[in-house]
Amino acid sequence: MNLHEYQGKEILSSFGVRIQRGIVASTPAEAVTAAQKLTEDTGTGWHVIKAQIHAGGRGKGGGVKLAKNLADVERISGEILGMMLITPQTSAEGKLVNQVLIAEDVYYPGDSKPEEFYISVLLNRATGKNMIMYSTEGGMDIETVAEETPHLIFTEEIDPLLGLMPFQARKVAFNLGLSGTAFKEMTQFVTALYTAYIKSDAAMFEINPVLKTSDDKIMAVDAKVSLDENALYRHKEYEAMRDLREENPIEVEAKAAGLNYVKLDGNVGCMVNGAGLAMGTMDLIKESGGEPANFLDVGGTADAQRVETAFGIILKDPNVKAILVNIFGGIVRCDRVAQGVVDAYKNMGDKITVPIICRLQGTNAKEAKELIDNSGMKIISATEFQEAADKVQEVLSV
Ligand code: GDP
Ligand code: MN
Repeated sequence: MNLHEYQGKEILSSFGVRIQRGIVASTPAEAVTAAQKLTEDTGTGWHVIKAQIHAGGRGKGGGVKLAKNLADVERISGEILGMMLITPQTSAEGKLVNQVLIAEDVYYPGDSKPEEFYISVLLNRATGKNMIMYSTEGGMDIETVAEETPHLIFTEEIDPLLGLMPFQARKVAFNLGLSGTAFKEMTQFVTALYTAYIKSDAAMFEINPVLKTSDDKIMAVDAKVSLDENALYRHKEYEAMRDLREENPIEVEAKAAGLNYVKLDGNVGCMVNGAGLAMGTMDLIKESGGEPANFLDVGGTADAQRVETAFGIILKDPNVKAILVNIFGGIVRCDRVAQGVVDAYKNMGDKITVPIICRLQGTNAKEAKELIDNSGMKIISATEFQEAADKVQEVLSV
């Protein structure tokens, strides 16, 4: 689950990671109040107005701006709130900005080259260990750094039993070229950051930039935080941070119905039981010249109710021109699933506007095929995997 910058910073701060302070606002009036409060707390007269969307590169897209007085705060917030922000990480139409973060300006005005670092914590899937990835090239696109100057990216792998060792935190600070107070600050920053990552069951932290202020403090200016959804049951307070406005509405509905659905760009809807078979089905559709419109795993209980919900969700996508049902009957018998498909089809009537190709294989596959063929419904049955994919192509080409 992805979080907004202000939420990520809240989590970091709760574990003692120093952050650029800020207050979130939904209207220009709230933004002004937030700025006044920050001035009281921090003494800063300047503020940065930062669009809160689930995408990076906001600075480049005009979603991060400096305000030098309250009139600026009001005007800039008004401009950013409600805009469709386009960044290198959004689609071409951009993302609607519902909230802005009013943050204290932490860049020293006379400082032409503030020291910015890149630090992320993530799982190295190749070794199965968490690692800290860091670079002196903060504030830049890390992909560009990786391409052009890969020697400026360092990694530090963490032993899952020992945790982050003090010498490792010092190594990070050393490689970032720090000394004195800033060195000590950085070791504390990295240690707190790693603790936050572990304790919050995060999937990824990316802090870009980490800033060294002119008085040698180390702080997180940005925070891209992604939490492990499977661990959310342990963190009710984080669960409430989910912003459904940032997610695909069909995926949200599917999740609520207990279906594992991911929207894709193609035109062949798929309904499959089991994630592995669903991946295989998508591959086969592509191999046969089609494009999958979604990933959908209906799970073990493919009864009429579930199949109907799944059809409904697949058909919400206007690009879908055919649906391929591919079920392997292991524990769940094929004839029961076939009955489910037929019943769902009956219930939905003219809501089903595209051809359905149904391939059932496994226990009672023969009975299932008969059931479908004799149902009088416009469902095309298939037995073999390839046969099913070919039939999809056939209906698409007419
Ligand atoms: P991103 O573009 O989505 O990654 O958003 P960031 O939070 O990283 O902000 C983009 C850029 O805005 C940063 O790289 C900084 O250079 C700049 N920025 C952020 N906070 C401040 C601030 O307090 N003062 C000034 N002057 N610039 C800031
Ligand atoms: Mn950033």
